[in-house]
Amino acid sequence: MLSRLRTTLKSRKGSTIVKPDYDKLDTANLPDKFAYSRPRFLNIDDSLGSDHSVRAILTPLDLTALPWSSGYAECVNGGKSRYNEDQAAASQFYLSCGHHTSNGSVTNNNRPKPPNSQYTEVMVTYMGIFDGHAGTGAALTASHLLETHLQEKLTEVKENILELEESEIVTPLHSAITADRLIVGALEAAFCSLDEQMARERTTFAIRGGCTALVAIFLLNTLYVANAGDCRAILSINDEIVPMSRELCPGAEMQRLQTMAFSNPGLLRNEFSNRSFCRRIWKEDIGKKVLCKEPMSEGWVYREVTSDDIRSPLVRGEGKKSRLMDTIGVSRCLGDHDLLVFGTDIRIKPFLIPLPEVKTFNFNKTSLTENDVLIMGSDGLWDVMSNQDAVSIVKAVLQQHTTQDPLRYTIAAKALVAHSRGTASDKGWRMDNDEDASFDDITAFVIPLHMVKKVGIRL
Ligand code: MG
Repeated sequence: MLSRLRTTLKSRKGSTIVKPDYDKLDTANLPDKFAYSRPRFLNIDDSLGSDHSVRAILTPLDLTALPWSSGYAECVNGGKSRYNEDQAAASQFYLSCGHHTSNGSVTNNNRPKPPNSQYTEVMVTYMGIFDGHAGTGAALTASHLLETHLQEKLTEVKENILELEESEIVTPLHSAITADRLIVGALEAAFCSLDEQMARERTTFAIRGGCTALVAIFLLNTLYVANAGDCRAILSINDEIVPMSRELCPGAEMQRLQTMAFSNPGLLRNEFSNRSFCRRIWKEDIGKKVLCKEPMSEGWVYREVTSDDIRSPLVRGEGKKSRLMDTIGVSRCLGDHDLLVFGTDIRIKPFLIPLPEVKTFNFNKTSLTENDVLIMGSDGLWDVMSNQDAVSIVKAVLQQHTTQDPLRYTIAAKALVAHSRGTASDKGWRMDNDEDASFDDITAFVIPLHMVKKVGIRL
């Protein structure tokens, strides 16, 4: 236990994972699921941008490679890992509904809906950031395959989605089932089914490590942001900033984690406590009263410390510095099926879930201009930048470049990455204010919103 704590204390600031210790799965002779490469839409030689002393900022060579001429930029870390472990994906695809029938729905007057012979296609715009840890395998797999899983899940409910979008239709299934909830369900299911695929294939392929995932889809005038981990998305509309995700770190999910441990005490193997105290507990504290948060509780109470409470807490620390089982700084991610608590055979995965939180924003009543954007970034971007900083940087770039300039969103994304990366100096990578810059891999999307209402259903 002490060695584990020392490892925690010595861990590099900002690292997602303290010290990876994976089950004795022999992956040395397994082929990679996907060979290492940068995102396909960058269309560059993979050696470009790999110099950690330069940290060149890469942007797509072909602006049409991204939907809506969106901006994208990335740079490699300052030397914490050989490869850029961030990955990204972007595409547009159609959900096709040919000759769809009523499929169980009825009209308001309770008569079956006549078959609709129109051929309908609904466009889905998809963007994702995948921040890998302890290897590149999970992030690469997610960047290649999550879209496929999402298409499958959306296809299963596409007829329902279109019917529920028509206001005169009610569903006999359940009043809470709306088109919106079906799309949220498809996103959740896609994350989980990809995670199951990674679990199945990890004895066939070397799918190393894990990755956080942040996915945005635009569908039927609505934005859906699905997040599992500590990437972040914000909307900048007029003068308003709308957070579209929250960092899912162990400290932010203490109640879920404690409740799970309370319900399945065997998962802690008598090494961890499902209680959290306001400070570290020592042997000398036995018999004293210390403020404590009990499983399933919202508040804090004084508890008389017992010998059981000297065990490590399931969740240690707060915010970005919090750790689950002294090991990992996120509470949700894909992969990591064999991740163990360092020096033990205790598995972390039961607590570390792939299910994303999904936030939605409907644009029906929002007037949008060319300066309204969705900003998405990996934690490498946000570690040294506030939401307001990001919006100010993007707005400044967009003001300097007319709406006719197809590069304006790319330049904005590049400015975001440049700000967080800083410049190399004798003291390491520093920002303009001489504070530490981000040492992590950095990825940013700047996605214009004014096109959202111009595309959607085509008949
Ligand atoms: Mg990162």
